Amino acid sequence: MEEFLNYIGGERRPARSGAWLDSVNPATGKPWARIPASSAEDVDDAVQAAQQALETSGWAYVSAAERAARLRALADAIDTHTERLSEIETLDNGRPLRETRFAQLPGAALQVRYLAGLAENLHGSTVDIRSEAFAYTSWEPIGVTALIIPWNGPLPVFFSKVAASLAAGNAIVVKPAQQATASILEATRLFDEASFPPGLVNVVSGRGSEVGDAVAGHPGIGKISFTGSTETGRHIMQRATVNIKNLLLELGGKSPNIVFADADLDAAVAGVAAGIFTPNAGQACVAGSRVLIESSVYDEFVERLAAHAQSITVGDPMDLSTGMGPIATQAQYDTVRSYLQLGREEGADLAFGGRTTADLVKEGSPLRGGYYVEPTLFATRDNGLRISQEEIFGPVAVALPFDGDDQAVELANDTPYGLAAGLWTEDVRRAHRVTRRLRAGNVWVNTYKAMHWALPFGGHKQSGNGGTANGPTALHEWMDLKAVWMNIG
Ligand code: NAD
Repeated sequence: MEEFLNYIGGERRPARSGAWLDSVNPATGKPWARIPASSAEDVDDAVQAAQQALETSGWAYVSAAERAARLRALADAIDTHTERLSEIETLDNGRPLRETRFAQLPGAALQVRYLAGLAENLHGSTVDIRSEAFAYTSWEPIGVTALIIPWNGPLPVFFSKVAASLAAGNAIVVKPAQQATASILEATRLFDEASFPPGLVNVVSGRGSEVGDAVAGHPGIGKISFTGSTETGRHIMQRATVNIKNLLLELGGKSPNIVFADADLDAAVAGVAAGIFTPNAGQACVAGSRVLIESSVYDEFVERLAAHAQSITVGDPMDLSTGMGPIATQAQYDTVRSYLQLGREEGADLAFGGRTTADLVKEGSPLRGGYYVEPTLFATRDNGLRISQEEIFGPVAVALPFDGDDQAVELANDTPYGLAAGLWTEDVRRAHRVTRRLRAGNVWVNTYKAMHWALPFGGHKQSGNGGTANGPTALHEWMDLKAVWMNIG
């Protein structure tokens, strides 16, 4: 078994308690590494190290050019170590190697370079008030910040958020998900390689209920960026009252993907499938898990989607030809299976799919202990079912028929979430009209799940708290705005 250590004050250390957690490979169901099971005292050490690093390095005051240079060195190190990091990520959370190696890590390096550019282009403004006043604003670092990460995309979240916080002049304490921590502990080596002052970046491995909770309630931390479920986000908001922490919450979703009868159906079938039957088995916050289909093309569309879904090979995430890997954890696998059962109990029709490891993997295969679910679609007219309302976080979608724009919009908006939405139509006027009425932070027209670091990303309703990551103002999330009024009369 490989062993990974916490990264605190530039040193690699086990948990103070000496306790460990196993990290399981979801492709086989077997432990492959161990990670520290830290506790609140390790979080205290990390916060102290971060405070000390800010004081000794003067990071908040070094030139923007110097911060950008360190970040560009980090991006180069990501490129150098892509192979090893992507293999660890795939072993740890089952996301197929073809995504981690060829899309996610190269994308992370490009995003870090973009953030380096933002560090060099940060500016406040002057405000014309009256002749005897000179008034201006400036963006200032917060100090010690924190990042809590989910298991479905650890490295992209880690690199983008840590780089943004560092670009803004902060130090950071990171709490990865205990189910997918190893790649992040390994990635800390890149900060040494890029010559960041020790202690600016700290990573504490452990359970959410212990380490995450200690981070959320720590009075020495001024800002938390949390990506994860709405339920945990709610808990973090409550804990953050201790010092009125600044929070960026990126939460769950139940996103509609709307197919109008006038759509290019070939493109829509491929786009709807790509939105939910993702290489990482639908474990995407923006998964298009409710497929709304205009009645006149409903039967044809479901039939074509079934054919497309059947062409996706489910299997070993290390194999570059695999179309879809496993669910990331035993607990999530159990959750997805319970929704497969619930869908039947609630009276939805199983349009296609529904099989899991026992039916998909031959006896004797090393993958037999893994957590596989095939692309699945339930059909119903009832948007009030639990499978229509709750985030399943697996390759399981619900199809609902509709007639006309009004019903499409009504159904699309009828969940507590507001993360993303897609629509497929050849009518440009309808595209604009419907987009305007959708309550979602991210809307895609004739595409789905397209993301770029230069475009803001955030959730509405219970999918977020109004903050946005990415885009030209990404550093503002990690800074305080100061207003200065100077009397010059
Ligand atoms: P989760 O909420 O269970 O865990 C996320 C993180 O919070 C983990 O590091 C976990 O250890 C920690 N945590 C758990 N309990 C905690 C507590 N009591 N106090 C503090 N921290 C705690 O989410 P998950 O299951 O790891 O990830 C899946 C969820 O993340 C889905 O809901 C998905 O939609 C969401 N997600 C959202 C986005 C987005 O950008 N909106 C992106 C990816 C994932």
